[in-house]
Amino acid sequence: MALSIAIKELRDFLKEIAGVFSQRFDETAGHCPNCSAPYLREEIYCYHCGEQKANQSRDTTFYALLMELLVEILVINRRLFFTIIGLICRPGLLTRAYFLGIRNKFYKPLTILSAVVGIFYGVFASATLFHTGFNEMDQAYQQGWNTSNFLHYDIAGQARLKSETIHRDVKDIIKDTEQKAEVYSKNFFWLIWPLLAVFVSMLVRQQHLNFNYHLVSAAHIFGAYLVAWLLICLITFKVAHVTAIQPVQSLYLNIIFLIYMVFHLRIAYRLTAVEAIWRGLILAAVFFGLIIIFRQATTLISFLTINR
Ligand SMILES: [Zn+2]
Repeated sequence: MALSIAIKELRDFLKEIAGVFSQRFDETAGHCPNCSAPYLREEIYCYHCGEQKANQSRDTTFYALLMELLVEILVINRRLFFTIIGLICRPGLLTRAYFLGIRNKFYKPLTILSAVVGIFYGVFASATLFHTGFNEMDQAYQQGWNTSNFLHYDIAGQARLKSETIHRDVKDIIKDTEQKAEVYSKNFFWLIWPLLAVFVSMLVRQQHLNFNYHLVSAAHIFGAYLVAWLLICLITFKVAHVTAIQPVQSLYLNIIFLIYMVFHLRIAYRLTAVEAIWRGLILAAVFFGLIIIFRQATTLISFLTINR
């Protein structure tokens, strides 16, 4: 969207808000009370603003109020329903739709991403989705080489050394690390999105598309992944009241998501099945790798930058 159009839309929006203060309803007969357009025929809705014409019989029952409420809840949230169902059940559809110019039906790419992240951290303030927990890294170190500690870094041993050097309790160092990692993971998590877009653009570079297309595509992929995690966390923590996500759960999710990526590439980039499959496999490996590296880097940087 061109900047001038965005500015015009914002200005119109502000004008409409100001209009709430100054609006005089037009009570002349034969005119729309909302926008003053004359009623030309026996229309039911105003041709200019869409307001329903006043009608004694529609407003007389309590049932009518209830039905209005129901319709309003569904209609106001229609984009929410369209977006979630489209994003989860029809991979690639939203990206395709965005570039065909179907933009009012679904939430915009960055709206999806920021809304999911907002809800995520609003509900699960200390979720370790984007940083590896200190204990998780330590346990992974004890078990030998493990994807939860790919550098095989003895974080607990280093914490004991650090505790002697800077004269602080190991427990405090661990607590500080976790706190810093939580902040870092929230602040820098946005880096994953453009990085993912760069990888997508490399995989489909023969298509000669604008980089923005890949940014939108990456926002949808990442958004779908976060929505899936949000649903899993809600079910695990809030419905089943289990305290931890099992590794097997994330394995299942990652397998499903790998298939999702294949379909996403196929639909969003009009690829053949074979082209989509091998690119989907590579993209999934890169994406999971990116998340693993990000999660551990936030924890390691947090730990290494504790100096006192
Ligand atoms: Zn009107």
